[in-house]
Amino acid sequence: MAERPIVIYGNQVLRKVCDPVEEINQEIKDLVSDLTDTLKKARGLGLAAPQISELKRVFILDLSAIDITASLKVFINPEIMETSEEEAEIEEGCLSFPGLYQKIYRPAKVKVRATDLKGNQFELAADGMTARAILHEYDHLEGVLFIDRMSSFARTMLRGRLRKLKVVS
Ligand code: ZN
Repeated sequence: MAERPIVIYGNQVLRKVCDPVEEINQEIKDLVSDLTDTLKKARGLGLAAPQISELKRVFILDLSAIDITASLKVFINPEIMETSEEEAEIEEGCLSFPGLYQKIYRPAKVKVRATDLKGNQFELAADGMTARAILHEYDHLEGVLFIDRMSSFARTMLRGRLRKLKVVS
């Protein structure tokens, strides 16, 4: 399959709630393959289907750039089962907001359940960057963006840059 254009902030597709995957058919396999190619080319850590204009509950993570033991993980119909009360402040970026990085508070730990490409359900308890990436990508499936998680102060500070992103896209 192929690399696809990444949707940039301002495009309403990023604000839609994605539909569950009914069946892991060829269409879904192709989607995951496109997400993988697109993520590799963009050198990102994670990518959600709506970022390539597919309103499906699918995202992938590839944390191998920061953790050599990590491999590509596919999350189909993910459910957040638990988040820790403890929060962590970690800098995030998003391929739909090129060049924008901001420290954001989110739960430090997360437990997620999802289906893999073979149709097997799995559960994962994560912390650190993995937890952060899961929460960030999961938000995309709900039409929520990382700017929504910033303090209103940070958002105000970034207003000019956000406007520019919208204009360019
Ligand atoms: Zn993102």
